[in-house]
Amino acid sequence: MRNSPDLSLIIPVYNEEGNLLPLYQRILAAIEIEITSFEIIFVNDGSSDSSIQIIQKIAEKDKRVHYMDLSRNFGHQVAVTAGLENCSGKKAIIMDADLQDPPEIIPQLLQKAKEGFEVVYARRKSRKGENFFKKITANFFYRILARITTIDIPLDTGDFRLIDKKVIDVLKQMPEQQKFLRGQIAWAGFNQGYIEFDRDPRHSGKTNYSLRKMIRFAFDGISSFSDLPLKIATISGFICSGIAFLLILYTLHSRLILKDFEKGWASEMLSILFIGGIQLIAIGIIGEYISRISVNVKNRPLYVVKNSTTPTIQEKDSEKTDV
Ligand code: UDP
Ligand code: MG
Repeated sequence: MRNSPDLSLIIPVYNEEGNLLPLYQRILAAIEIEITSFEIIFVNDGSSDSSIQIIQKIAEKDKRVHYMDLSRNFGHQVAVTAGLENCSGKKAIIMDADLQDPPEIIPQLLQKAKEGFEVVYARRKSRKGENFFKKITANFFYRILARITTIDIPLDTGDFRLIDKKVIDVLKQMPEQQKFLRGQIAWAGFNQGYIEFDRDPRHSGKTNYSLRKMIRFAFDGISSFSDLPLKIATISGFICSGIAFLLILYTLHSRLILKDFEKGWASEMLSILFIGGIQLIAIGIIGEYISRISVNVKNRPLYVVKNSTTPTIQEKDSEKTDV
């Protein structure tokens, strides 16, 4: 049996060719003195540039470096999950490949873990190089999420964090297809601590989170941890029916008693459009939940690995060939 390293670094990679070498060098410079037993797992999430070649070159020279090459782009959260499921460290740190999460603070994360925290997240004091729109929407989203869910998802944190093997074992038991790791880790509980850092701008390249991906990610988070949108749909249905009922009374009253009624085309159209709109929104929200249920019912694998050097997968492969 292999000895498990003290620390696994999980790094999802999607078109990061300009960042990988500086990242690797900065990681070594930051941790090599502190910790000798570690592994780095790059998860190549279907990059279309030369990221995988660069990773392979690094892995050839340094046996502590492993990679998983996914068969296509599965998205950031899935890539991180793939890494977590196949790492063997006693602790793991999740970090981005674009050097927005500075490797220099890894020792601080480890120090805090030594104090007895199973989860240490890195909280952003500032975020440099990100546009106003992203900051505003992220801020808004996390505050809303904190209000409508029952679990405590820490504010101003991304996925840059250290988690203990105990937490990874819990994550492995959560089979949902819509991964929202920061929520799942908060859900898992244990002692959660944090350190603060300044988030750097991207070293090179551009963000891979388009507006569409951000919206999908936001709704994955909300739908995984809250059913408030469904309740809002129901409540607005009741409110609209209430208004409609009052309108009926009013119409009957003006027609039968006052015998004075307007043609009222505009108000009729308005109420039809209003109620029609609310209904469509409600159906849409229900649809979003149902589509997520249906994805989970299909029970497909979360990701497909084309090629991998992680010891866990190598072992599984050799078991297969042994039979
Ligand atoms: N990433 C990924 N798959 C994707 C999109 C992003 O593995 O489909 C990786 C990316 O290479 C980076 C991390 O996830 O290491 C964060 O992505 P990005 O920097 O684009 O997001 P931002 O920092 O702008 O939120
Ligand atoms: Mg980034």
